[in-house]
Amino acid sequence: MQQVKDQLLTILRDVKTPISEFRRTTEKLTEILVVESMTLLENKPHKITTPITEMTGSKLDNHVVLIPVLRAGLAMLPIFLKYFEEASTGFFGFNRDKTTYEANMYFANIPNILPNTKVILIDPILATGNTTCSAVTYLNKMGVEDRQIIFAGILAAPEGKNHLETTHPEIKMVIGAVDKRLNEVGYIVPGIGDFGDRFFGTN
Ligand code: URA
Repeated sequence: MQQVKDQLLTILRDVKTPISEFRRTTEKLTEILVVESMTLLENKPHKITTPITEMTGSKLDNHVVLIPVLRAGLAMLPIFLKYFEEASTGFFGFNRDKTTYEANMYFANIPNILPNTKVILIDPILATGNTTCSAVTYLNKMGVEDRQIIFAGILAAPEGKNHLETTHPEIKMVIGAVDKRLNEVGYIVPGIGDFGDRFFGTN
């Protein structure tokens, strides 16, 4: 699977990739991340009758809450909604301080989250990990435990991945790839540049 993710990431990384292909490729890579997220959820037996006989199949045993981080997380949300058709959806908005890279929350609209609910926190980029850790702290204060949370992202820096792993070891992650490092202005190297700008056509 990593081979397929790497092929799709190569398209996303290439500065020559036009916006239409960038969007299509984000969709394809997110589909893989959705499937990987699904393997981390619980199943329950589900009795059905096929045209031939009765059998016990399986179905999802968790309620799912999807929480994209504005704005880049919106790029992945439609693909998650396609598979988690009944998921409730919340939103986090953060500004990143340009010098300290601290994450400042400016918006949170999170639905009620029960103990058997799984939360998928969606953010294409895990750079310093400050945004993700602040989002998790907010969820913890609401009573959501780390074991309920899955982080889904297109690309991570080792710094961000380590930050999340050391502060919240029970959180599961589904990520396209982990790159080499962060540069002095907080971008992932070799990276894909500013994901939000590339996906939404801004700079
Ligand atoms: N945000 C991005 O979009 N890209 C990076 O490399 C780092 C932060």
